[in-house]
Amino acid sequence: MKAALVLGTQLFEHSSATVDAELILFVESEWAFRRRPYHQHKIVLLLAGMRHAADRLEGSGRRVARIPLSDGVRFADGLRTLLRAHGAEHLSWMSATDRGIDSRIQRLCEAEGVRTEIHPDALFLTPAADLDDWFAGHPSARMEDFYRWQRRRTGILMEGDAPVGGRWNFDADNRQPLPRGGLTIPPLPFPEPDALTGAVMEEVARRFPDHPGDAADFWLPVTPDGARAWLADFVARRLPAFGPYEDAMAAGEPFLFHSVLSPLLNVGLLTVAEILDAVLAAPDAVPLASLEGFVRQLIGWREYMRGAYRANPTLRDANHFGLTRRLEPWWYTGRDIPDDLPVPVRTVLERVHRWGYAHHIERLMVLGNWFLLQGYHPREVFDWFSALFVDAYEWVMIPNVQGMSQYADGGGVATKPYVSGGAYLQRMGSWWPNDRAARESEFTAAYWEFLATHEEQLADNPRLKLALAQMRRRRTP
Ligand code: FAD
Repeated sequence: MKAALVLGTQLFEHSSATVDAELILFVESEWAFRRRPYHQHKIVLLLAGMRHAADRLEGSGRRVARIPLSDGVRFADGLRTLLRAHGAEHLSWMSATDRGIDSRIQRLCEAEGVRTEIHPDALFLTPAADLDDWFAGHPSARMEDFYRWQRRRTGILMEGDAPVGGRWNFDADNRQPLPRGGLTIPPLPFPEPDALTGAVMEEVARRFPDHPGDAADFWLPVTPDGARAWLADFVARRLPAFGPYEDAMAAGEPFLFHSVLSPLLNVGLLTVAEILDAVLAAPDAVPLASLEGFVRQLIGWREYMRGAYRANPTLRDANHFGLTRRLEPWWYTGRDIPDDLPVPVRTVLERVHRWGYAHHIERLMVLGNWFLLQGYHPREVFDWFSALFVDAYEWVMIPNVQGMSQYADGGGVATKPYVSGGAYLQRMGSWWPNDRAARESEFTAAYWEFLATHEEQLADNPRLKLALAQMRRRRTP
């Protein structure tokens, strides 16, 4: 009997791995959800997504077998139980993005005498082999080179061999703070949870009460149809202003003009191709700077990060600055946050507890920046991001956290540590009452201290020459 396995991050409407299967298997592993204190919203997304996927398959006449969530069930035990109970002789599945999962399933099948067939990972646009070839051929792999290769390879936003609009990059038009007096920011189209999702929300609240977040506030779509409506709303209402304000921050605005597509994209509720089709068909009124800015994130940064993850298996344990501090419990609980935590960090931390989400600049320049300035161990930081964010998976976390934000590899993914004082944060987010307060903030003091402490390790980086010179001038009496 031919069976297929669907993982929680593979909720695709169509999957080559399930097409021929006589039986489709779903395992809800409680143990996996307890490996870290995962945000309740992430657990709801995965569980409700899996249950909806299983129901859809059954509704279209397919046979489905499930191991429902129950105390302490491990994934491997659940899968073994299903294979034995149904006499499976052959198992197909889509290659998992995180390292080690495919080989674990394969070993289990071998032990059970089950033949295996692994299908390509459909979470990305770039075939894994092409991505690996590119990274192998570019030892100092820079995102900008990767992105141009990607644009040329796919023909996206290209006119012959030239980029549409004559430029690869519209950053000079982007990276603006919100205008004084603010802007109207279209609210997200939060879906009303259906009965299945509502039941999952209650179950998660009951089973995982100590995990961050409140399942009762769950806010994301959990089906491909819901995800497509969410995408359409982004293209119609937020994409036009995405570019100019992609780096902006505002204390009362968690989403601004961001797409909030990563939670859906990373579990297969949307494909990259679907998103590209939607944004490239956007009305002409969408400025090229916004369109290109978004495409760069999607087919540039996202695919590049996957490649960096595959190319650097040791990145997980890197610790360039030899940092040792452990995270205090309040990062996880959201309770008893110290009064002297700088206002941007406190605001974004509270936001992450509420939504399991913060946008890119808040992750990089508020949270990541603060973690690095404070000397937290990069693995501690990785564990925290992994637990708290609804879109967090190892393949995307390791290059973004250890690589980009904590500079733990000493400059493989990022060309300099992303550290700053209060002045940058004030310019992009007006976090303090005035510029002087930002300059005199705890954040700025931590920045100078970091540069002084790590002066020797930073001295060779041409992008830090100016900052180090400023730091030395301040030190000179
Ligand atoms: P938008 O700003 O609307 O961007 C569009 C899409 O581009 C995103 O949905 C995402 O799929 C993709 N994208 C943009 N930048 C990146 C990037 N650097 N890496 C991968 N994809 C990117 N992304 C995750 O998907 N999961 C994570 O757990 C995650 N953790 C991060 C941790 C840190 C410290 C940093 C600096 C970045 C992290 N990112 C992560 C990347 C990025 O911040 C998020 O993808 C983005 O904020 C998701 O929100 P959005 O969908 O509104 O993005």
